[in-house]
Amino acid sequence: MSARVADVVVVGAGPVGLMCAYLGRLCGIDVVVIDKSEGPLEVGRADALNARTLQLLELVDLFDKLYPFGKPCNTSSVWANGQFVSRQSKWWEQLEGCLHKHFLMLGQSHLEKLLDGKLSEIDAAVRRSTFIENIELNSTGCLTTLSTGERIQSRYVIGADGAHSFVRNHFEVPFEITRPQIVWAVIDGVIETDFVKVPEIIVFQAETSDVAWIPREGEIDRFYVRMDTKDFTMDQAIAKINRAMQPHTLSFKEIVWFSQFAVKESVAENFFVHDRVFLVGDACHVHSVNGGQGLNTGLADAFNLMWKLNMVLNFEAPKELLQSYENERKPVARDVIATSGELVRSTKFSASGTHAEDYVKIVEKRAGNITGMGVRYGDAELHGSRLFDFEVFNGSAKTRLYSLMGYTKFTLFIFGDCQLDLKIPEFVKVMQILPNEDRENYWTRNTQYENLALLVRPDSYIQSTAPLDKIESLLELCSINNSDSSKVYSA
Ligand SMILES: Cc1cc2nc3c(=O)[nH]c(=O)nc-3n(C[C@H](O)[C@H](O)[C@H](O)COP(=O)(O)OP(=O)(O)OC[C@H]3O[C@@H](n4cnc5c(N)ncnc54)[C@H](O)[C@@H]3O)c2cc1C
Repeated sequence: MSARVADVVVVGAGPVGLMCAYLGRLCGIDVVVIDKSEGPLEVGRADALNARTLQLLELVDLFDKLYPFGKPCNTSSVWANGQFVSRQSKWWEQLEGCLHKHFLMLGQSHLEKLLDGKLSEIDAAVRRSTFIENIELNSTGCLTTLSTGERIQSRYVIGADGAHSFVRNHFEVPFEITRPQIVWAVIDGVIETDFVKVPEIIVFQAETSDVAWIPREGEIDRFYVRMDTKDFTMDQAIAKINRAMQPHTLSFKEIVWFSQFAVKESVAENFFVHDRVFLVGDACHVHSVNGGQGLNTGLADAFNLMWKLNMVLNFEAPKELLQSYENERKPVARDVIATSGELVRSTKFSASGTHAEDYVKIVEKRAGNITGMGVRYGDAELHGSRLFDFEVFNGSAKTRLYSLMGYTKFTLFIFGDCQLDLKIPEFVKVMQILPNEDRENYWTRNTQYENLALLVRPDSYIQSTAPLDKIESLLELCSINNSDSSKVYSA
């Protein structure tokens, strides 16, 4: 049987593989997605999209399809021995340059079903109930053999196949796992309680702070209960919830999902191997659920990687650009693991006996990871920082900066009134934004980037900046025929 030819094979249609496939298709990349499961997730697993993820979803027109189904939540409170201790939300409220300063509490299955449906609509449906038998490297890329016997020859393979990744193991990428012997029960269900129901994350501290109440979409609530043994029943977990909430009581009218989560911590040694194979999501980083970072970090991997593949596959960008995926995302994964590791350990071990308060202090200290807004890919002030979002007008119609961007191209934002006579490469979109009210053109009152030209990456991080009389210097870097071309793409 001759092999089907594709640009990219994505192994795994969890949320991260699905997002890679969706972004790839937006960019005109021929992506084939394989998954051993029969369909997208129905219930359970990740429960929150952070503020940065919400911004990224806006870039690719997915935000409006998800937001109405979720529950905004930016407040945590602490209760100890039946008494209210504290309530906090300042690390969300202080976020600058974004509209949605909160988590959107929403089960992972909503995102998976949306993306799965989108891929079917564009004739790129996930190949379900299919395993990977083998991946062989050859002179033009990778030859993947499926359990159906079919073979696919692709330029690249993306391993999005979760914590037990076949792809990672097949290419012998080191993945040393720490197991801190911490096991959580997770229960999603419809509850009955005499405790006032509020859209807040509540950490209860009894002897330890081992119960957290997470608001969820619709009628559902979630409880994380630290059990520290794999051998427990749901009734034991519910008893622990009741002990922590005393004098209040709680029971479940309906259980939607009951699972256990044994904490494992690891970052893969490599995220990009043999110049052909990438690892994304849980395939290259696993950690505790504390801080809600697993799904969000994986989605940010997808947004970081797919525009780079687009530039290499469709615009002759130098292949070195692809290495920047690992260079940028591995440090982020390490930070995420440090954050979730510190959080999960603080639920039990506290010098002062104030576990729940300690937990909140760590959240505050690590807010950049938890909100997703602290991630940056460069040291200079603007270079590598996320583009701020703010109101922009077109005549009298109000819009926002992020709605003027797209994922398939760089955007050259020119914040100021100057004549433009520029030769623009195909992969750059130019948006001029005037400083004063204008009847026909885009304008803003925001002075954040006044008199600056910003070259912004497709994943909305600032690549480089220049004063208005030096805009050509940004565009010279954009020319793919220019000997300095690698600079525009480099991270
Ligand atoms: C039991 C459990 C509970 C969790 N609970 C929470 C939680 O409460 N909160 C939270 O924030 N996060 C939670 N997570 C983590 C969160 O779900 C992950 O971070 C997220 O799913 C990562 O997405 P992914 O796409 O990288 O991997 P996954 O979602 O694991 O997707 C991997 C996909 O690859 C497919 N696959 C695997 N091997 C192969 C193969 N050889 N061939 C073909 N397909 C393959 C699988 O079928 C799957 O669809 C939980 C994870 C688990 C496992």
